[in-house]
Amino acid sequence: MTSNLQIARQTETVFRTENLDIYYGNFKAVRDVNIEIPKNAITAFIGPSGCGKSTVIRCFNRLNDLISSFHINGKIYYHDQDLYAPDTDPVEVRRQIGMVFQKPNPFPKTIYDNIAFGPRLLGFKGDMDELVERSLKQAALWDDVKDKLKAMGTDLSGGQQQRLCIARAIAVQPDVILMDEPCSALDPISTLKVEDLLQELKENYTIVIVTHNMQQASRASDFTAFFNVQANEKGQQTGYIVEYDRTEVIFQNPQQEATKEYVSGRFG
Ligand code: ADP
Repeated sequence: MTSNLQIARQTETVFRTENLDIYYGNFKAVRDVNIEIPKNAITAFIGPSGCGKSTVIRCFNRLNDLISSFHINGKIYYHDQDLYAPDTDPVEVRRQIGMVFQKPNPFPKTIYDNIAFGPRLLGFKGDMDELVERSLKQAALWDDVKDKLKAMGTDLSGGQQQRLCIARAIAVQPDVILMDEPCSALDPISTLKVEDLLQELKENYTIVIVTHNMQQASRASDFTAFFNVQANEKGQQTGYIVEYDRTEVIFQNPQQEATKEYVSGRFG
């Protein structure tokens, strides 16, 4: 793997993996991940489907813990804390590291309650109206919904629902927002709105985004990791990172032939 890790060191590192291998039972889904994710930047994971992008991003907030066959070798550090150490609390990890999924999944509750749900659960004692307004403003949804906060979140358009899910993630004041193909169920206009929003969010948050849309990665991200798969010694298709660098390098001057072919649309 080519990895210009100096790039990440210019700013604080939020996640650092060391020789990370990820398994589902005996199947090694991803191997040898050594990556640093810089703070207040957008890092995109691209590559053909099945190469482990979701698997890696889900490790960052321990979402894979819910799958019994899942385990890792190697280390993942979050601000120098060993994310998989026995004394690391996965619930606290998920509070600090929020996630937005491919399909917008608002709760079947009002817009207001979608935002207030997490903070209430965590015992938030401040001004809830103010928190709801601030979260919706940060997600660029306030103007659309300020007159109908009692309407159901599920009645919004797909693009609005996704921004509601982003507002819901923001409301618990996370440090990181993980996004797993957040625009793939959205129309092109809603997609651009979410991309614009990402540029604002990175002022306050660290963002890691999985996307199958190469234009999106090149438009919206600061760093890009290109994943691919290779058959391992057991004939299993195991994912790995081919190249990780500044997004303009990956798209304009990649060092690896496979990256060049992928970003030029010649395979994948
Ligand atoms: P991508 O996000 O790049 O499309 P995934 O991370 O979803 O790739 O999948 C990587 C590999 O892990 C694939 O071979 C997939 O079938 C396998 N995989 C993903 N989730 C599970 C699971 N829960 N159990 C077993 N295998 C899985």
